[in-house]
Amino acid sequence: MNEFLSSDIKFLKGLGPVRAEILNKELGLFTFEDLLHHFPFRYVDRSKFYKIREIDHESSYIQLKGKIIRLQELGDKRSRRLLATFSDGEQQLELLWFKGIKWIKSNIKIGEEIVIFGKPSFYRGKANMSHPELDTVANRQKSAPLEAVYHTTEMMKTRRVESKAIRQVMTNLVNHTNYNVPEIFSEEMCQKYKLIPRAKAFKYIHQPPSHRHIEAAQYRFKFEELFFLQLPFINQKVNRKEAATGISFSSKNPKFEDFVTNHLPFSLTGAQERVLREIKTDLCSGQQMNRLLQGDVGSGKTIVAFLNVMMAVDNGYQASLMAPTEILAIQHYIGLKELAEKIDLEIGLLTGSTTTKQRRILHEKLQNGEIKLLVGTHALIENVVQFQNLGLVIIDEQHRFGVAQRAKLQDKGKESPHVLVMTATPIPRTLAMSVYGDLDYSVIDEMPAGRKAIKTAHRFGFAREKVWQFMKEEIARGRQAYVVYPLIEESETLHYKDLNNGYDELLHFFPRPEYQVEMLHGKMKPADKEAKMRDFAAGKTNILVSTTVIEVGINVPNASIMIIESAEKFGLSQLHQLRGRVGRGAEQSYCILLSSKKLSENGKTRLKAMVNTTSGFELSEIDMQLRGFGDIAGTRQSGLDQLKLASLSSDAHIADEARKAIVELLTNDPDYTHHQSLKHFMKNKSGYKDWEKIA
Ligand code: ADP
Ligand code: MG
Repeated sequence: MNEFLSSDIKFLKGLGPVRAEILNKELGLFTFEDLLHHFPFRYVDRSKFYKIREIDHESSYIQLKGKIIRLQELGDKRSRRLLATFSDGEQQLELLWFKGIKWIKSNIKIGEEIVIFGKPSFYRGKANMSHPELDTVANRQKSAPLEAVYHTTEMMKTRRVESKAIRQVMTNLVNHTNYNVPEIFSEEMCQKYKLIPRAKAFKYIHQPPSHRHIEAAQYRFKFEELFFLQLPFINQKVNRKEAATGISFSSKNPKFEDFVTNHLPFSLTGAQERVLREIKTDLCSGQQMNRLLQGDVGSGKTIVAFLNVMMAVDNGYQASLMAPTEILAIQHYIGLKELAEKIDLEIGLLTGSTTTKQRRILHEKLQNGEIKLLVGTHALIENVVQFQNLGLVIIDEQHRFGVAQRAKLQDKGKESPHVLVMTATPIPRTLAMSVYGDLDYSVIDEMPAGRKAIKTAHRFGFAREKVWQFMKEEIARGRQAYVVYPLIEESETLHYKDLNNGYDELLHFFPRPEYQVEMLHGKMKPADKEAKMRDFAAGKTNILVSTTVIEVGINVPNASIMIIESAEKFGLSQLHQLRGRVGRGAEQSYCILLSSKKLSENGKTRLKAMVNTTSGFELSEIDMQLRGFGDIAGTRQSGLDQLKLASLSSDAHIADEARKAIVELLTNDPDYTHHQSLKHFMKNKSGYKDWEKIA
């Protein structure tokens, strides 16, 4: 253990036990090392002094030199405030304090030349500044021109532990007589990847001599973050490739050939063929396949999965396909059964609501090998489900599952079954590489021929009847429609009314028997769900009124209208998934986003983005800009939320560099013989062991 880094912050000069406890509680900082890692979120240039006349509505944090010429305490009790008139010799500016009045009052000397620093705001057209930082001119001259600004909490502010106080503490820390931060990367690596020494990087990031130094320090820490983010995944991948011998399939595939030649309902796209070749290479390699198949909604992943199933069956193995929702599992079952019958292949369905009796039959058929493909929800990973010889595991909409679930399903094979995970979550490639870094990666980047781009429009609620009128016209032309209501996840009973109300209104506008309007939601009995899905898929239902249970995977090519109510309540990726339910056939499809008139800026941006593009990849970039990657499904578990400085959207090139360094390390020095300090560092790194478990 490094004594300096592991010291308790309460021993740091200028902090003391009381403020140390505040930092413990509010920011979770306990050691010198924690404190060093509390990076500034921005810097202000204090070399420039502004004049009051230069202040405008765009002004950010600025500093001014001048005198306080008048001081007044106003109001009483709760409305108490301190008002100071500040003059820079030309004009006057009002300064205001609502808190810490006593302290400020005792520290202000009327007429003394001081420096104030803060963000101006406007009240009735006049500029003022509340809670500015005050400093003597002499003090200012001693400080560095570039100043770090730190995050604080409300509680910290009331206890006077503000950014300025933290900055002072940091100054004491990086200038400590025992300051000692060991390097963790080898000299060679630092040179090759242009990393400044760790000890210096901490100094520069907290007390930068220039902008150039900030950049160098930030680069160093971004590299570090991205290095440790990716290392466990890449490590896992390398180990797996070495250790895991998989089932070797032969390239002779009678059922596969029969199906492709005689029963395939369309010709495959170039991208689908390429992916199938990649899969085939894996399957015949003698090593276990672990492949991520990414493809935008509607790109045709299911058929690729099914052809993959046939390869397994041709080699005498069983396969399983796991979907995140029961409705999707049912749909896969219905759709694949139809295809499977053509080549005499038996399929089973297992969900949470399969009865005990059905289960018994199913288990028997799985164990004697009669059922070749088992489709289902996470009920598949229950311990009682045993196969005769499971050779392939497919997971649809992988982002909905945790890594642990994937591992559990994999364990069901006697030998390590091949694994194919599919996802439509349109995440940028760099992100995918990090989140699913232990997997090989295939992408279907081409839509089946003849698809027309979905037309998307945004309308306010009061245009609803017009939209419905349009729906009538489309229904008259033989099309079908979805109408989706928000917020009714299975748990949120409170919001059923929205869906029910909407359903009633629609029944009124689309009366029986002329129209068939049906309702579908997660709380319904499975048999009912299946019946509703079947009716809609068969074209018996004109309008399916639903919750987000249809969000992923559902495929009814004749449905060409998607109406999303309260669209502003959905996130971008969800909107994109919902829209992906249409545009799956040759007909022109439409997506209409209905919203209230009152929209947040963020809401406006999301709806506009939906109208402007149909590319899932573009939308995910926008989504990342809006929310950061923290919210993108599936990223929580991956350690991505541990990134403090690095951003996968704007620092992709640093992520690539870090990946290069990792691959070099693992190939040239897998035992870390020449990277002892790195090895040592990783052993002590908190949370790192958990990462290994994840990967
Ligand atoms: P997703 O990738 O979103 O899972 P699906 O596999 O559900 O997409 O496919 C969407 C629709 O496109 C389905 O109706 C499917 O039959 C059809 N499809 C898939 N591949 C092709 C192709 N090569 N040509 C024409 N239609 C295709
Ligand atoms: Mg799908």
